[in-house]
Amino acid sequence: MATDLLFLRDAYLADVDAAVVDVDSEGRRVVLDRTIFYATGGGQPHDTGRLGDLPVIDVRKDGDRVWHTLGGDSDLPVVGDTVHGQLDWERRHRLMRTHTALHVLCGVIWNEWGVPVTGGNMEPLSARMDFAFDPLPDGFKERVEVLVAAEIAADRPIEVSFLPRDTAVEDADLIRTKVNMIPESVTEIRVVDIVGCDKQADGGTHVRSTGEVGAIEVVKTESKGKGNKRLRIEVVDAPS
Ligand SMILES: [Zn+2]
Repeated sequence: MATDLLFLRDAYLADVDAAVVDVDSEGRRVVLDRTIFYATGGGQPHDTGRLGDLPVIDVRKDGDRVWHTLGGDSDLPVVGDTVHGQLDWERRHRLMRTHTALHVLCGVIWNEWGVPVTGGNMEPLSARMDFAFDPLPDGFKERVEVLVAAEIAADRPIEVSFLPRDTAVEDADLIRTKVNMIPESVTEIRVVDIVGCDKQADGGTHVRSTGEVGAIEVVKTESKGKGNKRLRIEVVDAPS
């Protein structure tokens, strides 16, 4: 039985009741019929929180099922039990702000310089992202910070939708972000659209508008070889 990934439709669900559908006692992990816990993937680390009275310490996808690894030493639930899951919401919301910040960065850099992203990874409130610059333009750091601040000040809405694959592969923005690399078996493509800034196929969790990100600081730029320049960013609270 596949796990229903509730966060794909509502990233703001912080708790849920779910049924245990499989248990691996040795690995102290369980599969649920539905979950709010994001599994590591797409550069976004897994959520943490609690399932009943046990801490959730790792979340991994295995095909269309999600394994939740549980810490603590009390007994695991059994198949058929209903358990109450609760996110560490502070951590998750920080990851949402950070993930959205990275998409803003992608949008700004594409719209200003026409340069695509080549990779990235994030932790709560800090991240790195690589772009195909060669070399970085003069005054890049100052310029990108001005552009990113403008996107946040614009408080652009972020819309999540689901497109049939046939439609998605004909969308110019999605082609740019390599929608064709998604396996043919995926018939429905989830699209995250920072309206007017960045649109891409994405499975991550995002805030509702760019204003919710706070502020983005580019703390470092470094060269990772020809045609690959790395930006390190930090997400901070908006100045009040
Ligand atoms: Zn993303």
